[in-house]
Amino acid sequence: MQRSRALALSSELAAQLAALYQEMEAAYDAVASQLGFSCQGCPDNCCDSHFQHHTYIEWSYLWQGLRSLDADTLEAVERRARTCLLDCERQLARGQRPQAMCPLNVEGLCSLYSHRLMICRLHGVPGRLTLPDGRVEEFGGCHRCRDLLELAASSSAGLDRTPFLHRLAALEKELLLGLGRPVPRVRLTIAQMIVRGEPYLVAGQPICGGIGPLA
Ligand code: SF4
Ligand code: SF4
Repeated sequence: MQRSRALALSSELAAQLAALYQEMEAAYDAVASQLGFSCQGCPDNCCDSHFQHHTYIEWSYLWQGLRSLDADTLEAVERRARTCLLDCERQLARGQRPQAMCPLNVEGLCSLYSHRLMICRLHGVPGRLTLPDGRVEEFGGCHRCRDLLELAASSSAGLDRTPFLHRLAALEKELLLGLGRPVPRVRLTIAQMIVRGEPYLVAGQPICGGIGPLA
């Protein structure tokens, strides 16, 4: 039987990811301020949206944050994550797009703010992403921001996600460097990342924690 161990996220890589997150935040703030946009006073909370995340490095970093919580708080987060998953599975079984509050959201606020993932940081304002084949994918922003843009009769403002995604991909590559073979693709919600536990290696390959292969 091969021994397993957590996929090691070095302190240098964690620091680089934290710095990248800060740059994303600054870019987001610049666009939001240009548009006069903020989440303040919004009756919605996008933390109940069904987002999947795609990197081992963000999954590992999220777990660095989770490991800093005291035992009772972590247990409560894990309990909410299991409830959230069941809720999502029921909605999926009914053919609905799941909507369930993120287990890290407490009284409307993110309880692990410095460890929240890239999508959490970029969602809201309009953006664009240049794909490797040159096509450009556009993101319209949330409904509130779109309303604002309509009022301002302008659609030119937006956040270019491309350099951030490239740098995140480079950090992911560095984390997985030396594993030799292609690794299973991550496609998990935050609740799934919590319920599965941190990603770990078996026989040198990263797999999900605990409950079966990655979808
Ligand atoms: S991103 Fe938009 S819809 Fe979501 S909470 Fe903020 S303002 Fe509201
Ligand atoms: S990690 Fe934080 S910001 Fe992201 S969805 Fe969960 S509560 Fe919201």
